Amino acid sequence: MQERYDVLIAGTGVAGLCCALHLPPQTRVLMITKDAADRSDSFLAQGGICMLRGEKDFAGYFEDTLRAGHYENDEAAVRQMIARSPSMIEELVGYGVRFARDEQGNFRFTREGGHSRPRILFHDDETGKEITSHLLAAARTRENIEICEYTEILDVIEGSEGCCGGVVRDIASGEVFPVYADFTLLATGGVGGLFKNSTNYRHLTGDALGIALRRGVAVEHLDYVQIHPTTLYSAKPGRRFLISESVRGEGAVLLDKAGERFCNELMPRDVVTGDIRAQMRKDGTDHVWLDMRPVGEKTLREHFPTIFARCREEGYDPLTAPVPVVPAQHYFMGGVKVDLWGRTTMPRLFAAGETACNGVHGKNRLASNSLLESLIWAERAAAAMAGGEKCREYPAVALSA
Ligand SMILES: Cc1cc2nc3c(=O)[nH]c(=O)nc-3n(C[C@H](O)[C@H](O)[C@H](O)COP(=O)(O)OP(=O)(O)OC[C@H]3O[C@@H](n4cnc5c(N)ncnc54)[C@H](O)[C@@H]3O)c2cc1C
Repeated sequence: MQERYDVLIAGTGVAGLCCALHLPPQTRVLMITKDAADRSDSFLAQGGICMLRGEKDFAGYFEDTLRAGHYENDEAAVRQMIARSPSMIEELVGYGVRFARDEQGNFRFTREGGHSRPRILFHDDETGKEITSHLLAAARTRENIEICEYTEILDVIEGSEGCCGGVVRDIASGEVFPVYADFTLLATGGVGGLFKNSTNYRHLTGDALGIALRRGVAVEHLDYVQIHPTTLYSAKPGRRFLISESVRGEGAVLLDKAGERFCNELMPRDVVTGDIRAQMRKDGTDHVWLDMRPVGEKTLREHFPTIFARCREEGYDPLTAPVPVVPAQHYFMGGVKVDLWGRTTMPRLFAAGETACNGVHGKNRLASNSLLESLIWAERAAAAMAGGEKCREYPAVALSA
């Protein structure tokens, strides 16, 4: 690792990778990540990624996103995300990402809660792994991109021109040192590691938010935390296993302790979560049941192989009986405040992905909008950095133990 780069990126999820890949090839980029490069929530995304299905779908997609977000969304941000979605998908396909297709080779679309029509592309129930592994492989072939694992950002370096890099720590040796850069991207993901029950990796602890708060960089909606209605119930500690909303989109139903349906399973996440919690209180139970039998064996095995296998590993056979499910922390809509280019309130400091709050999701995220939003803001941040000027001076950093 050198002491100086053009761009420093903290995080190797879809946001960090997409930014790195969009920077001009002569840009010297350092990517650091707190864990192994393939241990990010981006790899865990199951359900899929949204795509605008032609101009006629624009109004519906826009309205679905706003309705899910309780109309607190930034409309310009939502427009930017929707309009750019087809070309971003095309780009992913260019990287070799495979989405499900029909016999004619056309995309197959699935549906999740809050969507008025199917507009979600998927790859089995491992869409995030399919997308992120291709982006990571592409980044690893680029000579201008260096990836350092088990290295975390502790702080940003602030000079007269704004952010000039970050203070980082090699986790194995404990060594702390400055890395200077003309531009820095915070793409450290969500906050699930701070919660007892979460679908997120435990090492995602909102570190960029801590840095922003310490440095007086604006943050927004820190209380907008999304709870996913259906994670596999377990009494064991650790990350909660998600049962994607698209299982309900394909026909699975929620049942109370008497085996009766009690809600509309295709409402937005916060509504379904509220219904489940109310039912648990009423029944005096610590979970409800998800009956996947209406989905059918063929779809369960072909579209949801990971979920199917995990339920069986835990001793539940979704083909013969409902499985126990419970809500858990899943996503963070708030974050470091950014504009349409991913710029924070500190010059030269950018944020993208779940760490950032660009207003797309409002108070509640519509299913399968976050991979897309992360990619688009990362690309915009790269474009802004590429058009920006270099730092003229780098301040000395006093490192305290
Ligand atoms: C189980 C699950 C299923 C999901 N399903 C879907 C879905 O179907 N569709 C959808 O659109 N979204 C889905 N999401 C949400 C989506 O996956 C995430 O919002 C998105 O991937 C966030 O990408 P990111 O690049 O911002 O962060 P992440 O992919 O979480 O990456 C964060 C990176 O930051 C690194 N990091 C953290 N702290 C530091 C630090 N201090 N220093 C350096 N590096 C650090 C991490 O090691 C990691 O590399 C799902 C999420 C989960 C958990």
